[in-house]
Amino acid sequence: MNISVVIPLLNEDESIPELYAWITKVMNANNYSYEIIFVDDGSTDKSWREIEALSKSDNHVRGIKFRRNYGKSAALHEGFQHTRGDVVITMDADLQDSPEEIPEMYDMIVKDGYDIVSGWKKKRYDPISKTIPTKIYNGVTGWMSGVKLHDMNCGLKAYKSDVVKSIEVYGEMHRYIPVLAKWSGFNKIGEKVVQHQARKYGKTKFGMSRFIYGFLDLASIMFIGKFGKRPMHFFGALGIVLLAIGFAILLYLSIDKIFYKTANINDRPIFFFGILSVIVGVQLFIAGFLAELITRNSYDRNKYSIEKII
Ligand code: UDP
Ligand code: MG
Repeated sequence: MNISVVIPLLNEDESIPELYAWITKVMNANNYSYEIIFVDDGSTDKSWREIEALSKSDNHVRGIKFRRNYGKSAALHEGFQHTRGDVVITMDADLQDSPEEIPEMYDMIVKDGYDIVSGWKKKRYDPISKTIPTKIYNGVTGWMSGVKLHDMNCGLKAYKSDVVKSIEVYGEMHRYIPVLAKWSGFNKIGEKVVQHQARKYGKTKFGMSRFIYGFLDLASIMFIGKFGKRPMHFFGALGIVLLAIGFAILLYLSIDKIFYKTANINDRPIFFFGILSVIVGVQLFIAGFLAELITRNSYDRNKYSIEKII
């Protein structure tokens, strides 16, 4: 099979039939063998009924229904487990992404050998409250992770099948899939300018919380990617620095006190800084040891992304 289209959705019943018809038109025009996997992330409207009806009339359509809302990442992850195509396309259900982009993205994967092609909504039809923070977010993410994309979180992306089978998208990590892929060793990551439309029906499913969660997820992803298998290197390194600073300060104060009979040590502000530094340093070591104990028993510790075995 050439293409699996994975569509996570939450309460998008008005868009589904239109989206389905549009994708089908593009697929048929290009003679692809394909499937469309709708993942209903706990919708409370008629979305699932629409999906059921489509799957009855067309066996290209498959559906997965969550019992409750787990979030876009969970929906994508579940969809990824079921794909059968060589290339996997993800797109939002709200008709903001255009299926007309699929053939070119498909070619970039199959002919040009990209692992991922990420859409870039160069001209966006979203409120300014979203476009400006997004610019900052893309800059910070690129700078921290080394994956420089103009539009990291674009819902429209194409993947080599291997990619979606190797990565684990959880929490709200769907914003960082290219970074997750890079940590797994897929580094041919491309970008394609895509058409974007204003939302036709319904309203956005993400509020302002996206910015806080987005930042926290970036911190986690950087930490796990770099130190997930060796947490002590992170905590221990910080701990050593703080302990060294603390000891140096306390040693200096002690020498001063013993040999030069300075007045009360506890009148000196630096004394408290020294103590704080030692305590926090010790705690970082404890955190490091605990993290090592936890990863010791984790299933992930010796899980590596393997490309080939001969
Ligand atoms: N979505 C989802 N689960 C959620 C929130 C959103 O499956 O908990 C889907 C939503 O239905 C849409 C896609 O994720 O298909 C993108 O969401 P939305 O269009 O609301 O985000 P925006 O375009 O505003 O960033
Ligand atoms: Mg949208």
